[in-house]
Amino acid sequence: MDAGDFKDTNERVTPKKVPQKKRSSSKPSERVSAAPFPPVGLITRAEWGADESKRFTISGDESSPPQFFSAQAITVHHTDTSNEDINPAATVRAIYEYHAVSNDWGDIGYHFLIDSQGNIYEGRYSGTDSVPAHDTQGRIVTGFHTIGFNPGNIGIALVGDFSRESPSPKMQRSLTELTASLAKKHSIDPLSSVDYRNPVTHRVKRTYAIAGHRDWISTDCPGLNAYLDLSQVREKAARLAA
Ligand SMILES: [Zn+2]
Repeated sequence: MDAGDFKDTNERVTPKKVPQKKRSSSKPSERVSAAPFPPVGLITRAEWGADESKRFTISGDESSPPQFFSAQAITVHHTDTSNEDINPAATVRAIYEYHAVSNDWGDIGYHFLIDSQGNIYEGRYSGTDSVPAHDTQGRIVTGFHTIGFNPGNIGIALVGDFSRESPSPKMQRSLTELTASLAKKHSIDPLSSVDYRNPVTHRVKRTYAIAGHRDWISTDCPGLNAYLDLSQVREKAARLAA
């Protein structure tokens, strides 16, 4: 895919009919403000070149068979990689290799990744239906991005290091639109707090419905600048998802 394929994602929505493809998950809406889910121009696992064999053991079993739970929260990360990234798809493949093979997490930990041009990449495998990160009942596949709080927690990673630099406007816009579309899909109020309950361990945590990794556990992730941007993301996502 060349950059032109993603042009629509990066431009403000003008009053034209969206989306062309009707997805079962999106409700008919008279407003064009909310971005559709799945996002237009989403780069699928096949498109970024995920080697699916990395999800399997030598004996041919899935290392981490997908599990699904209702979405309760959205958590934003950064990948702590270079901000001068000329080949973000290669970076996504490297993170996949690291998570799936080196860390033995069975797959890439995040549900979605966003590069500096605002392109959105499908993350963790969720089955053969065309809806990324979800099963056919709309439940979210369990990722591996926030230890202790993964089931029902949607992980979105910004590709780069945002401890000193800020996410680009295109990246911020895609994060806001993706967050809004997920919030709408799962009836999550972007401005709210959530009493998250781990459906497996029953561990509880009160935090933002749209949180930074550091809101859950002790970490610098997603970097101070991306973290400080989250209040704006919540406000804009709330307007888009309304
Ligand atoms: Zn993180």
